[in-house]
Amino acid sequence: MKAVLLSLALATLGLAACSPPPEAEKVVNVYTARHYDSDLVLYERFTRETGVKVNRIEGKADELVARMRAEGQASPADLFIAADAGALWRAQEAGLFQPVTSETLTSRVPPSLREPEGAWYGFSRRARVVAYDAGKVKPEEIDDYAKLAGPRFRGKICVRSSDSIYNLSLVGALIEAWGPQRAQAWVQGVVANMARPPEGGDRDQIRAVAAGVCEIAITNSYYYLRMASGEDPADKAVTERVKLAFPSLDGKGAHMNVAGAGVVRTAPNRDNAVRLLEFLTSAEAQTHISASNFEFPVSPDVAAPESLRDLAAVPAHPMSVAAFAARQPEAQTAMSSAGWR
Ligand code: FE
Repeated sequence: MKAVLLSLALATLGLAACSPPPEAEKVVNVYTARHYDSDLVLYERFTRETGVKVNRIEGKADELVARMRAEGQASPADLFIAADAGALWRAQEAGLFQPVTSETLTSRVPPSLREPEGAWYGFSRRARVVAYDAGKVKPEEIDDYAKLAGPRFRGKICVRSSDSIYNLSLVGALIEAWGPQRAQAWVQGVVANMARPPEGGDRDQIRAVAAGVCEIAITNSYYYLRMASGEDPADKAVTERVKLAFPSLDGKGAHMNVAGAGVVRTAPNRDNAVRLLEFLTSAEAQTHISASNFEFPVSPDVAAPESLRDLAAVPAHPMSVAAFAARQPEAQTAMSSAGWR
């Protein structure tokens, strides 16, 4: 018995010695600021379809950008993924992307939801909107972003701090739409309207509305929708009292941001990075992200899941996400000077 095993082992060794060296493993190294388990499912599907293994490093967008800068030419990063156009713009400004032109990408992602030169592409949409106490606030009082800064809401708004990139992008969009002076006045109005100094994340603002701390909260749409889905019974109860409204900017629709990705300039596995980026914009991936994280597809040709269909169809302001993303330094100045901490 022992002899048979030994000869089998030798035979295996012999075979290995005669066969060509194994092909280098196909990989793509992803630096991602998205922290959803549902993204892992997508990467697994990508690997199954392409044979390309996805290595993932997760962190805050700014930390990942700093890391890529420190790594320089030696960085293993192939694809950088972030949850806000502003974060993608920061990476672009740091010279970390290479432009990618791909018929697949440009046909799937509308021009307003990607960087014009192909530095990065959005693959899901998220609206920054308003959650409100349905017992105290009438929907027509919050149907326009401009109204949030008015005297009706003095001491009634909950919103997170000015280092939230979501807020910087919203204010950037107002600067893009209105010019710096009117946007500055809006920022001052919102600061005057705050019920408390900013603290916590978007979900905390929604919970504060239910607790009576404020009447309205500025939040990304998916946080509310995730709470309303019933994952957590206490959060679900919050959404019975607190409702979600989609204000309009100049009557053209809600402020729309994206999660997206760009191929890193020094990507050692560039082709695999482009493949993964294309995969993330596929109908399959858009549908998955929409269904699992309550974001909206970027492509008008991809249907949102049944439960989100009405909201996904709410008018979205046509402003280019790249345009407001580039306005964050001005937004930061406006918010700091107004005392938005
Ligand atoms: Fe978020």
